[in-house]
Amino acid sequence: MADKTGSVGGSAGGGSAGRTARVATVAAGLDWQYAPAPESRDIVSIAPEYGLFIAGEFAPAATGRTFATVNPATEEHLARIAEAGQDDVNRAVAAARVAYEQVWGPMPGAERAKYLYRIARILQERSREFAVLESIDNGKPIKETRDVDIPLAAAHFFYYAGWADKLDYAGFGQAPRPIGVAGQVIPWNFPLLMAAWKLAPALAAGNTCVLKPAETTPLSALLLAEVCHQAGLPSGVVNVVTGAGDVGAAVVAHPDVNKVAFTGSTEVGIAISQAIAGSGKKLTLELGGKAANVVFDDAPLDQAIEGIVNGIFFNQGHVCCAGSRLLVQESVADQVVDRLQRRLTTLRLGDPLDKNTDIGAINSRQQLDKITELSAAGEAEGAHRWSPPCELPKRGYWFAPTVFTGVSQSHRIAREEIFGPVLSVLTFRTPDEAVTKANNTPYGLSAGVWTEKGSRILWMAQRMRAGVVWANTYNRFDPASPFGGYRESGFGREGGRHGLAAYLDV
Ligand code: NDP
Repeated sequence: MADKTGSVGGSAGGGSAGRTARVATVAAGLDWQYAPAPESRDIVSIAPEYGLFIAGEFAPAATGRTFATVNPATEEHLARIAEAGQDDVNRAVAAARVAYEQVWGPMPGAERAKYLYRIARILQERSREFAVLESIDNGKPIKETRDVDIPLAAAHFFYYAGWADKLDYAGFGQAPRPIGVAGQVIPWNFPLLMAAWKLAPALAAGNTCVLKPAETTPLSALLLAEVCHQAGLPSGVVNVVTGAGDVGAAVVAHPDVNKVAFTGSTEVGIAISQAIAGSGKKLTLELGGKAANVVFDDAPLDQAIEGIVNGIFFNQGHVCCAGSRLLVQESVADQVVDRLQRRLTTLRLGDPLDKNTDIGAINSRQQLDKITELSAAGEAEGAHRWSPPCELPKRGYWFAPTVFTGVSQSHRIAREEIFGPVLSVLTFRTPDEAVTKANNTPYGLSAGVWTEKGSRILWMAQRMRAGVVWANTYNRFDPASPFGGYRESGFGREGGRHGLAAYLDV
């Protein structure tokens, strides 16, 4: 049994608790030392400055203003990025309009598909470059960018390329029409993947796009713009305007934008709905979540532990559908928490470019402050906080994986989206109680169920108010499968045939 006296919170590892745990792991014969396995940065060349991508060309902002992007794992300055103003947004929307009217809208679907296939193939060819760049700019481990973000982004382009010439057969009536110019605002947690989720269906359906990446993670979207250029995509079909929230606000409010797609916080999602209410713009919102991951006493516990870890510690918990509330049946709760803590002592936190790293950096100082504040609130409200012994790097933004037990439903850590590597454990006795607790949230994005009984999976899935329910797995994504929520998690679906509907005049 692993030592459970881990050090707690922001700076783990150094004290006597860390030493106690290390003695225990050595005694148990589990002290496997890993040699460093850093991925080389040489494949990426980061320019000192990046312009906006408008009408097929990179150019500085009209105002000449720029902002910095940093590596959150080291706080190293990476590059200066053009900060778009209203004039730049106007130019981007105008370029998208011309491309829509003159080139992309009238183009046969089979021709559009060729460009999408080309983008997908280039993403595959340059996947290592994208993976390294994404890890550097976002802080997420290379094994996740390499094995999840980039392959899935390419898969989305492949998948929607397949639809481009089959829209007549997609179930939306004969010859469904595109909407026009799409304004798309994306967050920092999956920068390239969110860009792919937005661009691929929009382009397949015949729309043109103005994309606003998150301020802290602009680099992969700008590299994707370069890929669009490399693929020969006609100018103006995809435009990328960088900057802060005000640039996103200018994109969505622009009168010549016909469709708005947003992924991010519920707060900003509400602001966007209000800003465009009555404008006739079509809107999809993919917002936050506080998902329940429900473990029954008959579940295969070893697999469930892996699912719990994947559910909340994948991507440092910066995942809208993260399984941040573990609901475990009371009869196995102690066993599950013991096994979970033991598993967490084996996670490796550190250099995102090291191929052995499981947990990378928190994306920004602002997000670290939010996680720190909510975790402190968990302790203050009486929950028991635990983290495995692990040494946090001196520079950069880091937070140890954290588990709260003794959590009650009224605690802030059980109600608010933390968006970090923090798990709240609650218990239940009966399936009815599990459903009641799982649904006790204003969100409705995702949920997980762990049980060996198929009938119970179906019973739970019918009752849990979540857009996606995973059974005996978690955080599974496929371009053919629709994803999205309801209530405060937003509306509309991305992925699959459903994802096309958001970009067609149906
Ligand atoms: P935001 O919702 O603020 O950011 C998402 C995107 O929207 C970014 O590109 C942002 O720009 C842009 N934006 C900000 N304000 C506006 C506006 N008024 N109009 C249009 N676009 C706008 O998320 P944060 O990055 O601030 O994160 C805050 C919290 O949101 C997190 O702690 C987490 O709980 C949640 N979140 C949820 C996500 C999800 O996938 N559901 C993703 C990201 C965050 P900029 O980057 O410059 O601020």
